Amino acid sequence: MPDIALLALILVAIFAGYLFGRAEKKKQLVQAQQNPLSKEYFVGLNYLLNEQTDEAIETFIKALDLNNDTVDTYLALGSLFCRRGEVEKSIRVHQDLLARPSLTPDQSVRVQLELAKDYMTAGLLDRAEAMLADLSRQNSPFRTEASEQLLKIYEQEREWQQAVEVTESLFRLKGEYYGPRLAHLYCELAEDCLNRNDRAGARRCLRTAFSRDRDCVRASLILGRIEFEEGRDREVIRTLQKVSRQNYRYIPLSLDLLEKASGRSNSERAHAGYLSRCLSEHPDTSVVLALTNILVKSRDEGFALEFLTEQLRRNPSLKGLNALIDLQLYKPADGSLTSLRLLQEVIDKMLEGKAAYQCHSCGFSGKEMHWHCPRCLDWGTITPVQGIEGS
Ligand SMILES: [Zn+2]
Repeated sequence: MPDIALLALILVAIFAGYLFGRAEKKKQLVQAQQNPLSKEYFVGLNYLLNEQTDEAIETFIKALDLNNDTVDTYLALGSLFCRRGEVEKSIRVHQDLLARPSLTPDQSVRVQLELAKDYMTAGLLDRAEAMLADLSRQNSPFRTEASEQLLKIYEQEREWQQAVEVTESLFRLKGEYYGPRLAHLYCELAEDCLNRNDRAGARRCLRTAFSRDRDCVRASLILGRIEFEEGRDREVIRTLQKVSRQNYRYIPLSLDLLEKASGRSNSERAHAGYLSRCLSEHPDTSVVLALTNILVKSRDEGFALEFLTEQLRRNPSLKGLNALIDLQLYKPADGSLTSLRLLQEVIDKMLEGKAAYQCHSCGFSGKEMHWHCPRCLDWGTITPVQGIEGS
């Protein structure tokens, strides 16, 4: 329904609610018409009929006759304004509602929550934060929603410690559902610690992240990085191999350090065994390329070529094709050099504009990995792209 039609419907509903309220008080309609308040309604309706919506709204708000039947209608009016981008009018409706002493405590909390959302939409985050912090401490039916909104502000502002505190209270109230999100927030704290060169602090944050979500891939990847920086290669390998069990889609993000740690600790054979197991369970271009690399390093180009060709037949990919051309370039057949290079240029161009990561919640895609989707603001929904154009 177009907004204007919905607005008309809401205003008529307010008018009907007003009449109904008066009927309940056993007053005659004629009395209502004589009352200056009811005149406001007719003036408002007149504006509405003449499509002067702004004047109509002003008049209706002035004539606000609040009872238990009209609160919902006024809230609908407020959210309609908000949707139309007229947030200052929505604020006005909600502030007027709040000024009414006849609101029940639950109604008052609900209106405050709506007002806080208006402030968020208007970018008045300090005001919204103060209201929501207060509401999230009150024992009301809207406590969870107030905490959720407050959390959005802290996440937007990258205030991770405060975000953790709110989410911990939601975790206590609502349980496991908040575990993965909480683990991501502890990972943010761990990253902050690492930026200050506080590895011990980062380790503490990561331990808590695992206690909230033992399958937190991100915590494994950060821990793998810390272990690598401290030269503990066995720990790097143990930590990063866990990623394949936690969520195989993130294996590509673990391969670089796994390869380096295996090389540094002379455990390439074991690494190749791990990659082969990954490949048999979840075919992935990045794993195929890592295995091909190991074969090339062991100077077995012939077998590398055979292996890669076979894998490409099973699961075609542009990156795999590029690697295949690389191998062909070692010993190009007579006259094939120029065409192989041209083919590689074409593939590079095709890959140039392709996204490497995609959110499976909203479809957002890009070249950089985000744990917190910039579009839908979900956590852990972006993964490396798989398939022919994938990793
Ligand atoms: Zn998304």
